[in-house]
Amino acid sequence: MNTHWLIEQYNNNPHKIAMIFRDKNYTFEAVYQQSMALAERIKSLETKRIGLLIHNSSDAYFLINACMLVGVEIVMINSRLTHDEITKQLADVDVDVVIATQPLHSDSLTVYSYESLMDMDSVSFEVESYDDDDILSIMFTSGTTGRAKAVKQTYGNHFASDTRCRAGMGYSEDSVWLLVNPIFHISGLSIVFRTLINGCTLVINEKFNEQSIIDLMNTHAVTHTSFVPIMLERLIDCEFDWTRLEGVLLGGAGVRTPLLKRALEQNIRVFNSYGMTETMSQMIMIPYNDSKILDGAVGKIINNEIILNEDSNALVNLPVVTPGYLNAEINTSDGYFNTGDIGHIDDEGYLYILDRRQDLIISGGENIYPSEIEKVVHGVLPDVECVVVKKADDVWGEVPVLILECEEEANIISRLQLVFDEKLSRYKHPKDVLFVREIERTSTGKISRLLNREKFIVNKDL
Ligand code: ATP
Ligand code: MG
Repeated sequence: MNTHWLIEQYNNNPHKIAMIFRDKNYTFEAVYQQSMALAERIKSLETKRIGLLIHNSSDAYFLINACMLVGVEIVMINSRLTHDEITKQLADVDVDVVIATQPLHSDSLTVYSYESLMDMDSVSFEVESYDDDDILSIMFTSGTTGRAKAVKQTYGNHFASDTRCRAGMGYSEDSVWLLVNPIFHISGLSIVFRTLINGCTLVINEKFNEQSIIDLMNTHAVTHTSFVPIMLERLIDCEFDWTRLEGVLLGGAGVRTPLLKRALEQNIRVFNSYGMTETMSQMIMIPYNDSKILDGAVGKIINNEIILNEDSNALVNLPVVTPGYLNAEINTSDGYFNTGDIGHIDDEGYLYILDRRQDLIISGGENIYPSEIEKVVHGVLPDVECVVVKKADDVWGEVPVLILECEEEANIISRLQLVFDEKLSRYKHPKDVLFVREIERTSTGKISRLLNREKFIVNKDL
């Protein structure tokens, strides 16, 4: 049995700054007191599982801690989802009590705001220790390949994730982490736990805005942070001495090489990583000073913790892997979790992520990786968003189709054709090019090949 991370910090470092939000500092003692006050109300709700519809804020931080102290499972809900999507997800995991820091009306749910919760009578209780196998959080995957899966995330999973991340990046209790990623994504939530486990200071950024992030990094002497590639893209040219940061974790999606190159030229200590909701964010990372980072490697594998099966699917056997989903079967064999991603491991043991298995195009018996074609297109049209999807074909079985988010121009096709001729074998050349106003994305902002195929290929004539 284990003592809660917050209680350990409160006992050992009560006066240390735990969290900073909107220029207000909260010590571990203050966080403990506020979280306990909330916990004493949450306890009275007598529920095993609670939905949290929260955005990056001090309230969110207190609520997460409060639920942990009560021992209630937290279901993190993406606040960018529509009302219907939210109620559907909550029903999917049998949740009928929600604490929301934004309006949510539903007949089937009991919804509390932070204030209405605090207005309730408190129930005093003894905080119990927890087991590594206890579920701390439940988080939905992004839904990029279909229905979002509800991932069980245990205390042990989150703890192992921190151990791995710390070994890779080398932070300590003196570190100051900046939270920019949404708290309802694993890349964001894992920062909350990392800082609690290690007693670091957490600086919470509310909404993405270049200047506010630069200001927070300067004002609070931030040492570590985590971005998805698009955030780095937007921040990289801002006036800032990036050498002040000891580590910038990158993940969530593949990073384009030109961006990595620019980051390294500006002495940004980037750690490119690969992971997923099922593995509590990053499970492997590559540091800025490893030359293979520019080849696209996401890290070096040790002890066969990640292997490839005969179909090149990346399989993982690490303590960060979820025990399973609440609404689907998990794909495992011999203790390994099948990520659904196709990888390549080079002679020195470096891992490269090529694509998702589901998106692979098999054309006349040859494998085509959509991301390879997309990379070539980005080289020609760096400012145009694009996606390559498969289409059924009578002769070849499947063929690639290129979808571009821009106005139609004859000259674009001819420029692309020249580069395809030079860089891609004939069978990889897109058989069609579609120009669209907007490429389809999931509610988490990821480009989904499935959604784009459904919209522009399968239902094209509707
Ligand atoms: P769903 O599982 O519902 O289809 P999702 O897989 O997009 O959605 P997440 O858990 O948010 O949900 O994303 C994890 C996936 O993101 C990985 O399986 C992988 O496909 C992709 N990914 C993450 N990091 C990288 C990376 N460094 N390079 C390439 N792909 C990555
Ligand atoms: Mg997935």
